[in-house]
Amino acid sequence: MYRTHTCGELRISHVGQKVTLSGWVQTIRNLGGMTFIALRDRYGITQLVFDENTPKNILPMLEGLGREYVVKIAGTVIERSSKNPKMSTGDIEISVSELDVLNKSEIPPFTIEDDTDGGDELRMKYRYLDLRRNPVRKNLELRHIMGQEIRKFLDGEKFIEIETPYLVNSTPEGARDFLVPSRMNPGEFYALPQSPQTLKQLLMVSGFDRYFQIVKCFRDEDLRADRQPEFTQIDCEMSFVDQDDILSIFERLAKHLFYNIKGITYNEAFPRITYEDAMKYYGSDKPDLRFGMRFYELTEKVKGKGFVVFDSVDYIGGFCAKGCSEYSRKQLDELTLFVQRPQVGAKGMVYVKYNTDGTFKSSVDKFYSPEDLKTWAEYMGAQPGDLLLILAGKESSTLSALNILRLEMGDQLGLRDKDKFAPCWVVDFPLLEWDEDEKRFFAKHHPFTSPKTEDIQYFESDPGRMHANAYDFVVNGVEIGGGSIRIFNSELQQKMFSALGISKEEAEVKFGFLLNAFRFGAPPHGGIAFGFDRFCSVLGGSESIRDFIAFPKNNSGRDVMLDTPSKIDKKQLDELYLNVLPIQKK
Ligand code: ASP
Repeated sequence: MYRTHTCGELRISHVGQKVTLSGWVQTIRNLGGMTFIALRDRYGITQLVFDENTPKNILPMLEGLGREYVVKIAGTVIERSSKNPKMSTGDIEISVSELDVLNKSEIPPFTIEDDTDGGDELRMKYRYLDLRRNPVRKNLELRHIMGQEIRKFLDGEKFIEIETPYLVNSTPEGARDFLVPSRMNPGEFYALPQSPQTLKQLLMVSGFDRYFQIVKCFRDEDLRADRQPEFTQIDCEMSFVDQDDILSIFERLAKHLFYNIKGITYNEAFPRITYEDAMKYYGSDKPDLRFGMRFYELTEKVKGKGFVVFDSVDYIGGFCAKGCSEYSRKQLDELTLFVQRPQVGAKGMVYVKYNTDGTFKSSVDKFYSPEDLKTWAEYMGAQPGDLLLILAGKESSTLSALNILRLEMGDQLGLRDKDKFAPCWVVDFPLLEWDEDEKRFFAKHHPFTSPKTEDIQYFESDPGRMHANAYDFVVNGVEIGGGSIRIFNSELQQKMFSALGISKEEAEVKFGFLLNAFRFGAPPHGGIAFGFDRFCSVLGGSESIRDFIAFPKNNSGRDVMLDTPSKIDKKQLDELYLNVLPIQKK
């Protein structure tokens, strides 16, 4: 028998018991007459003691032990003389009477401790060792509990879990497809699903009513920060529902998770904010609502006073940073440099200090009187002691720069506490988005999203003004997921394809199966998908979804542990009728 207990289990009540434990050697401390070993497994650490009571044959064996050796010991639980209240097993230790070395270990490339000395790349190369560390293991445990709670909740709501295939055809979600060559069908390819979107819609046609799946999705996109080429969604679809039905069930799911994972109860409904307001007030379709600082547009109020910077642009706006009127020259200069970074993209920044004594000091005192500044301050909800930060330029880029500045101020003022959660729904997205480069419309969500009934009339005349029955779930400025009510009629679906520049023939080739299915009594339906990795990372208080994925890829889409993607040999290529062209360096 390898063990009677785990390394996290023994307490003062076990004193006197003879036990057997197995695990990894975390540390060895040799204090001359006494040696202590911290023995670790998934459940915790137990201290082993070797001293004058230890059988004589064991002591020489200690010499040969090293970190991460796998050992089995037997011994008696004794009370510790110096207890460690920080450890759950800190009241006891094991007086060892038998020691078996089950396996040796090379010296690990980094220390297997909570605060490791291993850099990112090294930890990923030896991810199986990284996973021995507490913080990473805890993340996967949280992921496991989340998965269980999601299944419990959705099962309770009569959702049925159905698997859909991975070898499919293109499922447009705005990324490139990962392709898989078919050996049995030479020259032909499968695509890995960017999401099970069309398949879950077909399940609605089949009458399944309420479907879910915790499912892998694959998107071949340039990996922006915190994306993975394969990631997991909590994917759902429902029939005979409208937008409110979906938001209400998935709000309850989110509340169920907040309560069961974080112990947080939300009595109120999550705020719903329209896409238009989110952009206008926060410059983002995923606003961080942990703090205020909404934007106020000043364009009409400030033009025409001879300040060229304002007079020459189409948008001027800003927000009020509470209690920041004491910001120093240096701090303001740093903020100006911050907004001028290429990633932020503003030309400059105007500030107005509303001093505690009621006076004003601004970077535009030459052009505006204290009365002018007071009008702005009042309009922007400022009090004495506050600071107004204002940017000007083209509307969309200025709003986006203001968003980044707002988040920066939120950080500087400590308003983005990772233990605080501000969930919200963003609703009424535009149906289509114009792409200036390609000179055509793209679906803002995906091509199966239905327009709002009252907007269908604009399909031909003014497609850009149509709104969709689409919604996103956002927590702390992070998009957790989104979905929509779908088109369920083949004529309307055809209209949508043609608005996207997809011809009848092309639609037939790519989506004939769906258009066909819609001819056989498709019910009204809609759905949503939450990013599972992302929801875990937000609830786990981490910025990175990689921390919640057992074997993630790096920013170039590589698995550095498996050393893949990798070349394949000629024989395999031949079997697949493939020929790899010489690689041209870009
Ligand atoms: N398939 C969508 C996505 O992956 C979610 C949905 O509309 O249900 O974003």
